[in-house]
Amino acid sequence: MSTRKTKIIATLGPSSWDDTTLKRLFWEGVEGFRFNFSHADYSTFKEIARKIRSLETPSRPVTLIADLQGPVVRLGEFEPLYVKAGDKVIFSYGETGKGIPVPARVLFETATAGDFLYVEGGRLAFRVEEKHGEYITAEALMDGELRPRKTVAIKGKEYPLPSLTEKDVNDVKFAVENGFDAIALSFVRSEEDLRRLRELLFDLKAEDIKIVAKIETRSAVERLDSILALADMVLVARGDLANFYNLEEIYRVQEEILRKARARGKPSIVATQLLESMVNNPVPTRSEVVDVITAVKMDADALMLAGETAAGKYPVEAVIWLKRIIAEAERLEGDTQASYEPEDLFEAIAKGVTLLSNIIGSKILAFSERGSTARRLAKFRPGGEVVVYTNFPPTARYINLLKGIRAVYDPTLNKNSPNLFTELLDRALKAGLVSVGDIVVFTAGRRRGSTDLISVERVGG
Ligand code: PGA
Ligand code: MN
Repeated sequence: MSTRKTKIIATLGPSSWDDTTLKRLFWEGVEGFRFNFSHADYSTFKEIARKIRSLETPSRPVTLIADLQGPVVRLGEFEPLYVKAGDKVIFSYGETGKGIPVPARVLFETATAGDFLYVEGGRLAFRVEEKHGEYITAEALMDGELRPRKTVAIKGKEYPLPSLTEKDVNDVKFAVENGFDAIALSFVRSEEDLRRLRELLFDLKAEDIKIVAKIETRSAVERLDSILALADMVLVARGDLANFYNLEEIYRVQEEILRKARARGKPSIVATQLLESMVNNPVPTRSEVVDVITAVKMDADALMLAGETAAGKYPVEAVIWLKRIIAEAERLEGDTQASYEPEDLFEAIAKGVTLLSNIIGSKILAFSERGSTARRLAKFRPGGEVVVYTNFPPTARYINLLKGIRAVYDPTLNKNSPNLFTELLDRALKAGLVSVGDIVVFTAGRRRGSTDLISVERVGG
């Protein structure tokens, strides 16, 4: 059994849609699969979601994440154009037309002279020289091919658009109908954006779907506390985040998001360019190895591959390398729970369980119906193995992404059983998750949302 604690999420795409690659990613241990709805293809997504789900077993949950496009501005249709640094380019409002067409008025309303336009996540950059109504004249700052339908961001500025677009609403409906477990909301700016998505999920009778808040605007970083209160997870989306900060600030912003998420007991994901060079090469660069180790040491719950598994030449190798680097990082990592304080009584009990288990060198066996107990344990990062049983599938697929938590689904367990801990031990022994001679600390909560039971046992023969 793998003892890896940091979880792995792989983005699916043309490089990983074939049966063999899907299976290999699952067998390599990928816990979460992200579907990028910027490139939504419903019939393919439906089929792939069904295939991944069919690989799932009670002791190997898989988490399906629908990542919404959000309010992005894209270029319109035109013949690809090679630009050189210093070239003047005209952008104009419309689907087609003079210069480079951009079918989003908001670009022309938001950009002003002196602004920098980043196309395709910064692959190309332009400086706005003049803006007249629906025309922008800009100077290219680097050489490269300008291609149709690519995204345009304005450095440091947020488009004043709702974070749930019409397309996103349709995509959420699709995700609900096709059994997705979590929705990732792009360009979140405040808790209001999360509230809208919660309402939509409520209207769709899909309250159990989890919300991942993608932190990729300056507003989201500034309002992190209120966003964390409403989100089920946060994702450090370093790609777009870098449009709002200087590149060298990314380290500090990533560290701040991860630390605050941990303090609030919410799981976190680090994404984008972790092993970017593996899109084309079978081996990562030295600096990528150090970046992954940094993310593990900062204690992210999960690391997410994007282009590496979606569009790269080496999707499976990227996961194998990620596992290899995580193993080394976790070997180096010491005790990471110490500096986090409990925020309430139940967190204090979870911290107590963690400390006790660290002192006596035990495993932890827990039951968590809705995931609160699992999240509390994960916050304090127990040193030993933690197995959390649940009788609720959405919980299994949520706590599956928590660092150090092994999630197991068992519909026959019930938190009100007077013999809950005996039943847990029985299941764990049968599954080979504990052995005779192990010391086990048990924990669970008697009421929904609580953690208030503790028991210790040396497993007898
Ligand atoms: P994206 O989000 O891949 O959907 O843009 C991740 C990021 O911005 O880093
Ligand atoms: Mn993004």
